Amino acid sequence: MSNQRVYNFAAGPSTMPLSVLERAGAEITNYKGCGMSVMEMSHRSRMFDEIFQEAKAKLRRLMNIPEGYRILLLQTGASGQFSMVPLNLMGESGKADYAVTGNFSEIAAKEAKKYGTVNIAASSADKNHTYIPGQQDLILDPEARYFYYCANNTIFGTEWQYVPETGKVPLVCDMSSDILSRPVDVSKYGLIYAGAQKNMAPAGLTVVILREELAGRALPCTPLMMDYKTMIDKDSMYNTPPCWCIYMLGLMLDWVEEQGGAAGMQKLRDARSGMLYETIDQSRLFTAPAQPGSRSGMNVAFRTQSEELDAKFVQEATEAGFVNLKGHRKTGGMRASVYNAMPVEGVEKLCDFIRAFDKNN
Ligand SMILES: *Cc1c(COP(=O)(O)O)cnc(C)c1O
Repeated sequence: MSNQRVYNFAAGPSTMPLSVLERAGAEITNYKGCGMSVMEMSHRSRMFDEIFQEAKAKLRRLMNIPEGYRILLLQTGASGQFSMVPLNLMGESGKADYAVTGNFSEIAAKEAKKYGTVNIAASSADKNHTYIPGQQDLILDPEARYFYYCANNTIFGTEWQYVPETGKVPLVCDMSSDILSRPVDVSKYGLIYAGAQKNMAPAGLTVVILREELAGRALPCTPLMMDYKTMIDKDSMYNTPPCWCIYMLGLMLDWVEEQGGAAGMQKLRDARSGMLYETIDQSRLFTAPAQPGSRSGMNVAFRTQSEELDAKFVQEATEAGFVNLKGHRKTGGMRASVYNAMPVEGVEKLCDFIRAFDKNN
């Protein structure tokens, strides 16, 4: 077996910085001289409480999360939030606006319909989710309890380049695949959530950032574990939280801070995706389906005109050490997921590979 690390373009779980993995490795059997691993610690111990509080404090600092907002570290997966959001926020009016711009927002809208009335405020399904609707295209329901959208469409490779204006209606946003990749004005949102396995930590942790006043009005049928109020009251420790993932989140956040925080991440992100789109646009063989102005800075979807050639590209790329470039089964083609931890150098080398393939085929 080779001990060479590959460039891993997986959509999630995804690559993590080598320095973070090495630090976790060095601490894995004996954390700070306490004689045990973080994996073996009581979640109620003082040592873990420090890890937990520090992880939240770092996230608050890096995302500039204002007072009045709570950070919850949960186990639900981003998909669990598809249910938790309507259960907690739809309230008596039972109405919500959803923008459907890809696979995950479509599932979220469908789930919300179980609990109330969903107004599809916008949809990009007419063009196979290759674009993000503009502000002027949003059809807003003034009685909606919230407006829901997914900031980055992991599968289709599109991303919102603006924050929707919805007046008094709180914004709810799935940021699973672009959280911490650029500065965000949290005060514009009622609730932000992210499955951590793309940009922030290993799988098993879901981060929820919510304006505290929105909690406490869950539908009566809401399971105890799915009520934000339960988790706010118990500081995410109603039951055992995903301790190891929370520790890893802390290490990742240290790394993000070293790279210049959210602004530093944005520079890297623009460098990576800019280089990739330029290489694709200048090639003979490859095209990016996402429309300019809607292109994702995190998931770069591209393809040739032929499925055989796509398959050949993926195979040869894998042999050259660029792995997990096959597109999602819903789209076909290729997808390079270039999250926070993907080194710019990995993208430079992938671009060289794309250019060589373009010349030779
Ligand atoms: C991956 C992903 C999800 C699903 O995440 P799980 O944690 O597997 O439930 C939801 N939304 C977006 C935008 C994603 O990228």
